[in-house]
Amino acid sequence: MDTNPIFDPIHDTEAYRDSLSTIDKEGNRVWIYPKKPKGQLYNYRTIVSVVLIAIFFIQPFIKINGVPLLMLNIPARKFILYGLVFGPQDTFLFALTMITFMVFIVLFTTIFGRLWCGWTCPQTVFMEMVFRKIEYFIEGDAQQQRNLSKMPWNTEKIRKRGLKYFVFFAVSFIIANTFLAYIISVDELFKIISEPVSQHLVGLSMLLVFTGVFYFVFAYMREQVCLVVCPYGRLQGVLLDTNSIVVAYNDKRGEPRGKAKKGDTTQQHGDCIDCHACVHVCPTGIDIRNGVQLECINCTACIDACDSIMDKLERPRGLVGYNSLEGIRNNQGLKVTPRIMGYSAILGILLVGLSYGLLNRSDTETTVLRTSGVMFQEIGTDSLSNLYNFKTVNKTHNDIPVRFELQGTQGQIKMVGHAKVVAPNEDIAEGEFFVVLPRTAIKSRKSEIQINVLSGDKVLETVKTNFLGTTKPKKTETHENEEEQPTEQHKDEHKDEHKDEHK
Ligand code: SF4
Ligand code: SF4
Repeated sequence: MDTNPIFDPIHDTEAYRDSLSTIDKEGNRVWIYPKKPKGQLYNYRTIVSVVLIAIFFIQPFIKINGVPLLMLNIPARKFILYGLVFGPQDTFLFALTMITFMVFIVLFTTIFGRLWCGWTCPQTVFMEMVFRKIEYFIEGDAQQQRNLSKMPWNTEKIRKRGLKYFVFFAVSFIIANTFLAYIISVDELFKIISEPVSQHLVGLSMLLVFTGVFYFVFAYMREQVCLVVCPYGRLQGVLLDTNSIVVAYNDKRGEPRGKAKKGDTTQQHGDCIDCHACVHVCPTGIDIRNGVQLECINCTACIDACDSIMDKLERPRGLVGYNSLEGIRNNQGLKVTPRIMGYSAILGILLVGLSYGLLNRSDTETTVLRTSGVMFQEIGTDSLSNLYNFKTVNKTHNDIPVRFELQGTQGQIKMVGHAKVVAPNEDIAEGEFFVVLPRTAIKSRKSEIQINVLSGDKVLETVKTNFLGTTKPKKTETHENEEEQPTEQHKDEHKDEHKDEHK
């Protein structure tokens, strides 16, 4: 018994799994000419695709308070997700988001199979709903495309192929521009387009590279992206099980195959009339009747094709349809398996963690470090001071005036240089300040102190740092802001301090 969870013992005795339908015995590419799909699901998919394509092209132009709705600036590690700015300092949150998303995909795929691939994946949407439609419009349906391909390079072929590839390139260029707008924002994109070429060589190069990649993918690679490149497609073997809802052929109803006539009630065979309509429309060139296959992107074209045949034969639809192998074998609906429960539990925990992280995410992120190599200073006879460097990252789209206050400790903070600190929007404010503590507040050589970062009276965050000092008064008097002479005790402390820093 095969242990592969998507192994179908009824039909998986065939050798079709040993080869790809798009590669012949010599290893050459077999070009797929899928018949133009039509039917109810294809119409629904067209509507969904129009909405998705509209969102894709409109979204970069939408701004909230002058800030893009969505920006994925990977080179600068700056991401804006629907108003929330994530910078390099949010790596943990970003990683948690990615992990949560991946677990969601695993759970979703375990239950609904490749619904994503067939309905919403950008590759499928652009390939089947944009480039394939252009191809049908210019070259005609599958058989006309085959005829054109076999034709010598006469005027008709040059005209049709030339026009097709020109339109493909133009659409690829438009997609590349939009794609780049998601990375660098639409304002930067306009600069690249409108300003002299010499000022934007990198941006223009990226634009041309993206155009070339999209053109190559949609004009040449096509279904090969789903079959051999896409990691999600490659993972289907471990994500799907016999309970997953996939596009499947109901072999119990369809077999044995045989020709039939409309309204014939005396037939001895199953409902499949072996017409190959489901095979002719398949953009990945497979026969869904062989069983669930990794090549199937669940595009539903074969469902529409078979339904139209069943309609003509006046038989119920759904010989090919959304179903699970358990559903076909045992008429069993979706079962909540331990696997689904396990993934759901993990996803729930991750979502709670992510929500907590997002809700408690402050507008700023401040680091306060004692200035390296500078010892504490005695202020008069009753106080000590430490010098600190601070860095405040402003994650919002507005400038934030900030100030610092000690939390739970007597003492004060004295700014060095500028009294007022303003963290510019999506930028960093840096500076130095002294923390002055009375000797009575110092309990050990190294004490932990907490500093509130405020804007007005609102506490934005609380940061922790260390204060170095001594509980014993120094014999020789020092004055405010006067560098003390290192004593033996201080030398030891200085050594300790460097050890701490190296840790
Ligand atoms: S088998 Fe059907 S659903 Fe799967 S890719 Fe082919 S046409 Fe689409
Ligand atoms: S379209 Fe339906 S009837 Fe025709 S071969 Fe495919 S499964 Fe059989």
